[in-house]
Amino acid sequence: MKILITGGAGFIGSHLCEKLLEQGHAVVCLDNFFTGSKDNVKHLLADENFKVAEQDVESPYDFAVDQIYNLACPAAPIWYQKDPVKTVRTNVLGAINALELAKRIGCPMLHTSTSEVYGDPAVHPQPESYWGNVNPIGVRACYDEGKRCAETLCFDYYREHQVGIKVVRIFNTYGPRMAIADGRVVSNFIIQALRGEAITIYGRGEQTRSFCYVADMVEGLIKMMASSFSGPVNLGNPAEFSVRELAAKILKLTNSRSQIICQDLPADDPKQRQPDINLAKEKLNWDPEVNLDDGLIKTIEYFRGIL
Ligand code: NAD
Ligand code: UDP
Repeated sequence: MKILITGGAGFIGSHLCEKLLEQGHAVVCLDNFFTGSKDNVKHLLADENFKVAEQDVESPYDFAVDQIYNLACPAAPIWYQKDPVKTVRTNVLGAINALELAKRIGCPMLHTSTSEVYGDPAVHPQPESYWGNVNPIGVRACYDEGKRCAETLCFDYYREHQVGIKVVRIFNTYGPRMAIADGRVVSNFIIQALRGEAITIYGRGEQTRSFCYVADMVEGLIKMMASSFSGPVNLGNPAEFSVRELAAKILKLTNSRSQIICQDLPADDPKQRQPDINLAKEKLNWDPEVNLDDGLIKTIEYFRGIL
């Protein structure tokens, strides 16, 4: 098959490109290189089945493909808050352009939504049936509401035009090829620990997240594309850790003597996050396999190699 991946030069996108090429497909990686980089896919460039298209998803595009994965959007808070209006445009116009192409050529479109649609959740763990608790005027809203609107568009294109949509809500995913300047907690703590710099815990570190290794996530995305299910479906690893527990694990695994310091908690930072993945188990027969220690060891190895 010929497969288009928007945001294909990003962290998750580059692993997805790699996996689909391995499976024998031809892949077009569309990216504007805002948070992604050509370096993430340079090892794929020699493959004649792999093409890179430098393009912004805000503008319409046209490719003759059999499937579309829409991943284009900065994922880390510091990056999506740099230009919030642009983040809304990327989410909303990006979804419309992907859905228009899918409608025109009659192919399925998998959209990567996020656990952020649940905001600071009042229901724990979060099932897909929970409608969320998002501050619509806060600093995270450009991303959270942008992603919520993109989900709305997917379901409207499905109801109005029978587009084969697949909506996936990704929970915190980590692994090799997270950008050094990404700013998210796993990469920040590993880089700080390896450099012997202070580990920056925001707030008191009692907030929780559930961390999924990237190989598990890519498998879930491919299974969702292969299914006849429209979603939304949560994909994430349900093992939940506080940020302080994560810091302790990374200090131990890196054998680092970095100090821990506390900094201000960013506005609207969700207090807890844990996916209910019963639907993914039932509909996709998907269950993540890599536990946090094993995933962190692989990620630490990667960062040791590039720092
Ligand atoms: P990333 O920032 O590494 O990748 C995003 C890619 O999209 C980058 O290559 C970037 O250059 C590209 N991009 C951004 N804006 C674009 C635009 N306007 N036009 C074209 N390309 C553009 O992030 P990631 O972690 O790989 O996330 C991929 C997708 O998964 C995103 O949609 C993100 O919202 C979603 N997601 C990720 C996580 C996570 O924990 N990593 C969690 C929830 C949702
Ligand atoms: N965080 C932290 N130190 C850091 C980066 C993040 O304590 O250096 C916290 C952040 O406040 C949040 C959690 O770790 O509570 C996860 O943050 P991340 O940016 O990785 O993802 P998100 O908030 O989008 O889940």
